[in-house]
Amino acid sequence: MKTITHWIDGKPYERASERSGDVFNPATGEVQAKVAFASPSVVDEAVESAARASVSWRNASIAKRTRILFAFRELVEKHKPEIAKLLTLEHGKVTGDALGEVSRGLEVIEFACGIADLAKGEYSENVSTEVDTYSIRQPLGVVAGITPFNFPAMVPMWMYPLAIACGNTFVLKPSERDPSAANFCAQLFADAGLPPGVLSVVHGDKTAVDRLLEHPKIAAISFVGSTPIAQYIYETGTRHGKRVQALGGAKNHMIVLPDADMELAADAAVSAAYGSAGERCMAISMIVAVGAAADKLVPLMKERIGKLKVGDGLEPTSEMGPLVNKAHLDKVRGYVDKGVAEGATLVSDGRTLKVGNRPNGFFLGPCLFDHVQPNMTIYKDEIFGPVLGVTRAATYDEAIALINRNPYANGVAIFTNDGGAARKFQHEVEVGMVGINVPIPVPMAYYSFGGWKASLFGDHHIYGRDGVHFYTRTKAITSRWPDPRHRGVDLGFPQNR
Ligand code: NAD
Repeated sequence: MKTITHWIDGKPYERASERSGDVFNPATGEVQAKVAFASPSVVDEAVESAARASVSWRNASIAKRTRILFAFRELVEKHKPEIAKLLTLEHGKVTGDALGEVSRGLEVIEFACGIADLAKGEYSENVSTEVDTYSIRQPLGVVAGITPFNFPAMVPMWMYPLAIACGNTFVLKPSERDPSAANFCAQLFADAGLPPGVLSVVHGDKTAVDRLLEHPKIAAISFVGSTPIAQYIYETGTRHGKRVQALGGAKNHMIVLPDADMELAADAAVSAAYGSAGERCMAISMIVAVGAAADKLVPLMKERIGKLKVGDGLEPTSEMGPLVNKAHLDKVRGYVDKGVAEGATLVSDGRTLKVGNRPNGFFLGPCLFDHVQPNMTIYKDEIFGPVLGVTRAATYDEAIALINRNPYANGVAIFTNDGGAARKFQHEVEVGMVGINVPIPVPMAYYSFGGWKASLFGDHHIYGRDGVHFYTRTKAITSRWPDPRHRGVDLGFPQNR
């Protein structure tokens, strides 16, 4: 059986690993490869390689770094179908969705190609007589990224292109459930001319992550994953003196006001809830239907759900693929059982789905609950599967109060034809990313991505200008080039003249 190994110092790591994990094809249920799990000493090798590479990479000209990024951009564009296929084979998402993932990652690479402008400092002449002050942005050194299973290509691309463009070297620890895309992209970056050690990939689990968190040569950690792990990463990383941004889980609500276009809202809700089998941090998992909206909306959603085609992501007719593995399938099914037991109305039951030619795949059909109450487990927990709930609110005020009470605050959406209501909502809602008649408001690469509250630990969002600030530190320089007159000794505190 194939073993997926680390990528260290610009090449595949050759020594065998003592520990490894299974990589499944979620559509067939079969183990298709083993992935090596890095020990602390393997992580150390990757960090040492990154530290060595950092000495010259931080001094590489902006022109050189930019040219390599442009070449990488071309290679990712060219190899999009191969990357997408790796995503489908290991994650399960359908081909169109996988291609979309690569495109959104590519946008961050394109943003990073503009590093010449993004990393400019500032200059003030004559802050005092013949004294100038200016600031420069310098890389941090070696930084690490730890990423989740649900976007194995895009989420790492939220991090390493920009970190590397800023002059850092990067050690990536991708999800052990779908590790191949990270290696493939590291190879493409090397082909684009990236020197060995500037980007390394170590695979593994908590053992590898813990070594990264405590390693003295790592200056900063970017993390994306579930909330409990994000909190652990933030607390442990900062305790070891590192700069940390840790993006966590989500429970994204979509308010539908009674004046909304219900056909549009039903299309948006079904697309945003069941795309990628609900395994998106920006998936809509709760509809808050205000007033008369629910009675119109629920039948329209049920009708659309009935037509969704679930199957192997490689088949062109499939619109929704399987869940990532058996453990996750069982967990999500368990939530559906619990929702029924707690008294919510199961309008569409995906538990009965059979995919004829893939009997052992990790499939669950789309599930829709109505009459979900805020005290139910299916309201409170992040389910991260194809399970959408509808809860009813009498008024807009009741709806927004419910959202603002929720501990998660990643994304939110409102559907309405009332501009005033939408404007009031964008002002009042306590969530990091807001959609107005847009169900999945993932910001473009030149705006930063990040939630509030339990959806992000740290004070920088990811990519965009926040990303440049996270991956650099500012140095302010005050200089005097005086005329030849010597002013003599003056022990007074410097004052501006
Ligand atoms: P996860 O938290 O289980 O794993 C994320 C990473 O942390 C993986 O690389 C994993 O190996 C590592 N990890 C897991 N357990 C660990 C532990 N005990 N100690 C140290 N490291 C550990 O998340 P996941 O299941 O891979 O991904 C799904 C989650 O990610 C969902 O909660 C989803 O909302 C979230 N997510 C958030 C965003 C965002 O932008 N906020 C984006 C994508 C996914």
